[in-house]
Amino acid sequence: MTEKSEFDSPLLRTALTQLDRVAERLQLDRDVHERLRHPRRALVVSIPIKMDDGKTEIFTGYRVHHNTVLGPTKGGLRYAPDVSLGEVTALAMLMSWKCALMGLPYGGAKGGVRCQPRRLSRQELENLTRRYTAEIILLIGPDLDIPAPDMGTDEQTMAWIMDTYSMTQGRTVPGVVTGKPLIVGGSAGRREATGRGIVYALYQAARRLGQDLRGKRVVVQGFGNVGAVAARLLWREGCVVAGVGDVRGAIWNPNGLDVRQLEAHVAESGSVSGFADAEPVPAADLLLQPCDILIPAAVGGQLREDNADRVKATIVVEGANGPTTPEADAIFRDRGVTVVPDILANAGGVVVSYFEWVQGLQYYFWRESEITSRLQEVMTRAFNRVWGAASKEGTDLRTAALMEGIRRVAEGYRIRGLYP
Ligand code: GLU
Repeated sequence: MTEKSEFDSPLLRTALTQLDRVAERLQLDRDVHERLRHPRRALVVSIPIKMDDGKTEIFTGYRVHHNTVLGPTKGGLRYAPDVSLGEVTALAMLMSWKCALMGLPYGGAKGGVRCQPRRLSRQELENLTRRYTAEIILLIGPDLDIPAPDMGTDEQTMAWIMDTYSMTQGRTVPGVVTGKPLIVGGSAGRREATGRGIVYALYQAARRLGQDLRGKRVVVQGFGNVGAVAARLLWREGCVVAGVGDVRGAIWNPNGLDVRQLEAHVAESGSVSGFADAEPVPAADLLLQPCDILIPAAVGGQLREDNADRVKATIVVEGANGPTTPEADAIFRDRGVTVVPDILANAGGVVVSYFEWVQGLQYYFWRESEITSRLQEVMTRAFNRVWGAASKEGTDLRTAALMEGIRRVAEGYRIRGLYP
């Protein structure tokens, strides 16, 4: 794929730069490397929706399958105003490496609809989701491609997708999506899985660095399904959650926020802004506040050349996908900042999605304690493999994680060969 194509986007440039560097280190076969640079298929759809005012509006949606070499494709669906073909393709590529790194039998996929979900009514969101599902229906299925929540989508979105797909099949097909509500085949612990996985990864990082998490000051950017859960769990572990931010604003209290009260405030007002026991801080400054641990859990491209040298944290755990540019990575490496990369740190979501899919295929459901202990085991093993590889190869954790993920996908290509 050339960078100057209809796929061009900042996140895809980042993903390709990472792939090219790792391909060189792995001395990947040129043909396999070239195949990894391209998505297997990408669908762009127009989604006409009847709005509440009676007018029809057209939205643009995407579903991209990066590769299918290790199994059906897996990845979230994002509703956001800046979604583009290139961004969705980059995110699908990251899903490929993430699934392979975690040992899941999936290729990578991602979907997106360019919209402002907060400005749409519930009825409009349902219309949008059902029509999007109808438009991509040939690309999804329990053994083909299994969507899940991502930014701007949730359990309700998955229920609508599952229902729309099931209606076309004349039977209920729970395995077509994960992250569903419990009552229609969701898994215990799926909602908390990404945040919980971040905490498990952080335990391991702290252990390896000889640090005690208790009393450490944490800043979390993003207070959605990922950031809020991570903040709550770390607060319960005795961390000082001093700063948090969301799309509407950021707040700071160096002595720590009461995360339970903050969650109540967010449930009532829709934002962390205006929380009584904190000072507002400009959104861009949140990442630069004095803290030990920084968890970017919002959009991509937040840690860049122009701010990475002013980040005070010594551990960055990537809750978001692609929050750090390659230039910022180099700065962190030089400064000795430990970055636990997205494909490892936030993989708890897709790991429990895998558990949900397996449970759905078997119509046999596990207890929450079983889910969390298996999640902890998978996260800990993956972390230790990555840490060990990074020490052995003398690389940072991102390079080591990408090397393992990419090597597995490449091995799949090599062993399956090229059709015809
Ligand atoms: N959207 C999540 C991610 O980026 C979860 C994907 C899934 O569960 O399939 O990893």
